[in-house]
Amino acid sequence: MMREDLKGKIQTVLGPIEPQALGPTLMHEHVLCDIRPPSTRSDNDLGPEITLENVWQLNYGHGFRRAGRKYMLDLEDIATREVAMMKHAGGDAIVELTCGGLSPDPSGLKRIAAGTGVQLIMGCGYYVNDYQDPKNHKRTVDDFAGEMIGQVLHGAWGTDVRAGMIGEIGCTAPWTDTEKRVMRAALTAAAETGAAINVHPGRDPDQPQEVADFIKAAGYSTERVVISHIDRTIFDEERLLRLADSGVTIEFDLFGQESSYYGLSDIDMPNDATRLRLIRTLIAHGHLDRVVISHDICYRTRLASFGGHGYGHIFRNVVPMMGRRGYSEDEIDAILVRNPRRLLTFV
Ligand SMILES: [Zn+2]
Repeated sequence: MMREDLKGKIQTVLGPIEPQALGPTLMHEHVLCDIRPPSTRSDNDLGPEITLENVWQLNYGHGFRRAGRKYMLDLEDIATREVAMMKHAGGDAIVELTCGGLSPDPSGLKRIAAGTGVQLIMGCGYYVNDYQDPKNHKRTVDDFAGEMIGQVLHGAWGTDVRAGMIGEIGCTAPWTDTEKRVMRAALTAAAETGAAINVHPGRDPDQPQEVADFIKAAGYSTERVVISHIDRTIFDEERLLRLADSGVTIEFDLFGQESSYYGLSDIDMPNDATRLRLIRTLIAHGHLDRVVISHDICYRTRLASFGGHGYGHIFRNVVPMMGRRGYSEDEIDAILVRNPRRLLTFV
């Protein structure tokens, strides 16, 4: 595949499509993924089987010494059913951002796309520092960039399945040298291929801005960069609006997490109603074109098969809630269809 063949198209795991063929899209999910910290992967005790009695507490996020099983999305038959359920709820496409360090399975995604008729757009590149192959700490920007360009144009992780977006590019706070080299490589690969970038920022309220400023200082535009996980990172309007003013797209991607408890840092996690209020603030300041949403499902306990909300939650529950909260059809269309189409279309 040459860059010219992709221009003006969206690249799914089954091949390029016209942008108009893309309907309502979840911009950040994991369908086949393993998000166990690498240091725990050799532990054979995966914790309890998920049952009706423990699913709520497992999902809540603490109280279990071991819960490895919760972090493994490795059951392809269940994944296929869950993706099909999203289609029934009104969704059309999923951006699957399982990248290096999270056990990506491009061939599995291809089978799921073929089996469900759901458009799957795959990410590439590398997740945060601690999930990286130790060899990566010695690699150069050019080496990483060459790999990502190949993942978009030729195929990723030893397959011929091509990525349609670069990311989620992992950052931690403080930002590590390896992560900065991966970010520079992602910017090079985006410039060389015309793909957009998704960034996973560290859990510090100033890190999204640090990333946006870094991109500009390196001489690149922020217009095709999405910053993920804003819901667990930024809690004040000032930071939120400053970030949007810097040109990046703001992604609220923890929809469905309705509990104020967040096990990974000491924050008050917003619920869906609060997320919609923050998005309203962005729209009121002229940023409708810079908002996308998703669930970032990466736990079994968030799948319907294990008692969770599943990939259909936004279509089944959040869209009606948006209607009740004064979101117009046009605003909902921008967030779920137009913005994803624009970002996913190769330039
Ligand atoms: Zn993710």
